[in-house]
Amino acid sequence: VIEVQNLRKVYGGVPALDGVDLQVRPGEVVAVLGPSGSGKSTLVRCIDQLEEIDGGAVFLDGELLGYEQTPGGLRPLSERGRRDQRRLMSMVFQQFNLFPHWTVLRNVMEAPVQVHGLSRDQARQKAVQLLERVGLAEKVLAYPRHLSGGQQQRVAIARAVAVDPRVLLFDEPTSALDPELIGEVLQTIKDLAAGNRTMIVVTHELEFAREVADRCVFMADGRLIEDRPPEEFFTDPRSERLQAFLPRSH
Ligand code: ATP
Ligand code: MG
Repeated sequence: VIEVQNLRKVYGGVPALDGVDLQVRPGEVVAVLGPSGSGKSTLVRCIDQLEEIDGGAVFLDGELLGYEQTPGGLRPLSERGRRDQRRLMSMVFQQFNLFPHWTVLRNVMEAPVQVHGLSRDQARQKAVQLLERVGLAEKVLAYPRHLSGGQQQRVAIARAVAVDPRVLLFDEPTSALDPELIGEVLQTIKDLAAGNRTMIVVTHELEFAREVADRCVFMADGRLIEDRPPEEFFTDPRSERLQAFLPRSH
């Protein structure tokens, strides 16, 4: 589904991504791990077209993202073209970014209506189903400020899923949550992962990554230095950087 080739992103002369290659196949769940500042957020933000890239390429289902082929060579895509491509992906952020003056239901159903042209009835039905699935059936008419952080994040996940994205991107979806709320959100993501969705999940939750991911990748200094099935990743890390990153008990 996703193919990242030799991706480079530079901030003020300093590379945040220094030639990253990554492939994600349909239905695969890839966990991205690594120390702070290693480029994890930058990677998913570049995939989601939230950042201009400085080199390399990202393909979604074989289509080059952010650029178009013209007789004169590659040209940055128009705003509109970018928007069309971004519709194919959904990102869940650390901060849930719900609209505070909309009910939970409206937060989930609005994008399918506005962006994807579903009728309000269809979108409402679908949103209610999704909210039931993330355990929030009783909260459909509540406002975000009346929900716990974990509940808000589950709404954000339902919203991301509501547009049937080809890829779901998560950037540390639990790191803004109180410890006792983390479990419910991880469980929601696990349930989604079991449903054959393609996902890239940046996380610091090692146990979760180990259980849910088909592959774990490790980033350090803007490079992707390990890309393995979780069993090998945790029990037999090759690089010293990863050995130092993992707790001894593993
Ligand atoms: P964390 O675990 O703390 O979220 P991360 O792995 O997500 O870290 P990134 O946010 O991708 O790391 O940052 C990678 C590097 O790029 C860091 O050195 C960071 O300071 C730099 N960086 C990221 N965003 C910007 C920006 N908008 N402007 C300048 N530098 C940036
Ligand atoms: Mg980050």
